[in-house]
Amino acid sequence: MTQRIYNFSAGPAVLPLPVLEEAQRDLVALPGVGMSVLEISHRSKAFDEIIQGCEADIRKLAAIPDNYHVLFLQGGASLQFSMVPMNLMPAGGKADYVSTGSWSKKAIKEAQKVGTVNVAASTEADGFKRVPTQDELKLDPEAAYVHIATNETIHGVEWKYDPEVGSVPLVADASSDIFGRPLNVAKYALIYAGAQKNLAPAGVTLVFIRDDMLARSPQGMHSMLDYNTHVKNKSLYNTPPVFTIYVMRLVMKWLIEQGGLEAAERRNKEKAGLLYDVIDASGFYRGHAQADCRSLMNVTFRLPSEDLEKQFVSEATKAGLDGLKGHRSVGGIRASIYNAFPIAGVESLIAFMKEFERTHG
Ligand SMILES: *Cc1c(COP(=O)(O)O)cnc(C)c1O
Repeated sequence: MTQRIYNFSAGPAVLPLPVLEEAQRDLVALPGVGMSVLEISHRSKAFDEIIQGCEADIRKLAAIPDNYHVLFLQGGASLQFSMVPMNLMPAGGKADYVSTGSWSKKAIKEAQKVGTVNVAASTEADGFKRVPTQDELKLDPEAAYVHIATNETIHGVEWKYDPEVGSVPLVADASSDIFGRPLNVAKYALIYAGAQKNLAPAGVTLVFIRDDMLARSPQGMHSMLDYNTHVKNKSLYNTPPVFTIYVMRLVMKWLIEQGGLEAAERRNKEKAGLLYDVIDASGFYRGHAQADCRSLMNVTFRLPSEDLEKQFVSEATKAGLDGLKGHRSVGGIRASIYNAFPIAGVESLIAFMKEFERTHG
C-alpha cells in the first residue's frame, strides 16, 4: 500500500482509514448487490438501505428529536447561506446574525439579499479571535431567526456555549465542528453542515430542520431551494450524491463504534490540548484565538515572521505533514485535526514544532 502522510487539510479533509479500506474493498461490487455503489440507482433498494441507515445512525449519534427532519442536500454550506433566509425570513423581513469570522460574513452577505440583517455582535474589531459573550449579543426579539457559525474554520474560533435567544429560532452553520462534540439539537431550529470536514467526502450538506420551520417557506419558491420539497421527497427529489452518502454512512458507523460524540469530544480535547499546550509554553508560536474560544478542530497560530511561516510549511510538507498553511485571508499556520485525524499525527506535528523552534527560534 502507498504510504499515507498526515493530512491537516481544513476540507475536504482526512477520513477514517477503516472507512477508506471498506469503501475500497467493496468498490467494485457492494456485497449482496453485485454492482458498485458508483453505479446503482438512487431509487434502488440497495441505496434506500444506505440513506435510511445513514439517517438512523445520525439520529442515534446526535439524539435528534422526532420533530426534526434530516436532509441530505447539495450546493454546500454555501447554498444554505441563501436557503436559510429565503425560506425562514419573510420577504422584507429581518434576522439577527453574529459575525465571528469569514464564514459568518459570507452568510450575512447572502441574507442581506433577502431582507435586513442586524449584526447582533461582531468580533471583527478584535481580529476574530473570539466569539461574543451572551451579554454582548444585541438581539431583536422580532427577528425571524438568529444565525451563528459554531466553529469559524478559518480563524479557529469555536462557540463553547449555545446562546440564549428567547423564543426566536436559532440557526447554526456547524460545517466544521459537527459531531466533533455532542450538540444540543433541540436548542436550534435549523443546523446545517457541509460534509467535507467531519462527515464525508465533498458533495453533500446535512441539514437538521425543526418541523415548524417548514411553514415559513414562501409560495412560489423554486422547488430545489424549498426545504419542503426535500422533506416531502426524503432527499430524493433529484439525484443525490450517492457515493458521498454511502461514505457518510460508513463514517457514522465508525463514529458509533468509536463510542459516539462524547468519546469524540474526549479525543478531540486531548488532541487539541496537546497542541495548545505547546503553543502556550513557547514564546515562538503565538495562538490566534483567545484561550476560552479555541477551536478543537482548527488550531491556528503564528510564527514570529511570515518568512518563518513559509519555511515552517515547506519543511513540514517535506516531513510528511501536509496542509498546514493558514487560509490565504489570515495567513499563519492552521492545523485541522478533525475526528478522523489520528493522535499520532498530532504528536508528529509537536515533535516537528519543537525541532523547528530549536533550530529557528
Ligand atoms: C467549509 C465551510 C463552509 C463552506 O462550505 P461549502 O460546502 O464549501 O459551501 C461554510 N461554513 C463553514 C463554517 C465552513 O467551514
